Amino acid sequence: MNKYCLECDDYKEVELRNVERTLSVKGEDITLSIDEYFCKDCGDSIYDEEQDSKNLLLFYDEYRRRNNLLSAAQIKAIRQKYGLTQVQFARLLGFGDKTITRYERGAIQDEAHDNLIRQMESEENFRKIFNLRKGNLAEIDQRRIETRLSQSKTKIIIKPIKYGSKNEYTSLNQLVSKDYIFNKFEIAYCG
Ligand SMILES: [Zn+2]
Repeated sequence: MNKYCLECDDYKEVELRNVERTLSVKGEDITLSIDEYFCKDCGDSIYDEEQDSKNLLLFYDEYRRRNNLLSAAQIKAIRQKYGLTQVQFARLLGFGDKTITRYERGAIQDEAHDNLIRQMESEENFRKIFNLRKGNLAEIDQRRIETRLSQSKTKIIIKPIKYGSKNEYTSLNQLVSKDYIFNKFEIAYCG
């Protein structure tokens, strides 16, 4: 693969090498092993925009991990749980339109925003906020989310006591359809 090398002032063959780098994130020095491109000719480190943003995200996520903040991927997973776009999620939370996009790309959320996003992991909390703030969304999106919420069933996980394998966990709905007898089971988890 060829990339532009500043030192050689030319496009040169490059290779990825794993190197240890330290970056100061919000005043905190973080050292990580990351992949960087190097010129095979002069050996200089090569700046590559895509690789650089990938590495930056690793440093930011490590900062978030150390400071008990949700990672970019965790924020995305909570949003996708409800089938929301980044802008829709931001509007429901009362954030600026681009805020969630920035967090998912690596920008570090403050604790207040982290707490709010984290609360949305629970569907009960999400329903409360959605009912209060759905006016921030287009009507067609409100209806789509309402349909999705009405279809999502409360999952009650039931552990068989006497019948079936110990590892067999199944949902209440499955049990009903299989004509299982309820008192033969204990409710192991409700969520
Ligand atoms: Zn070079």
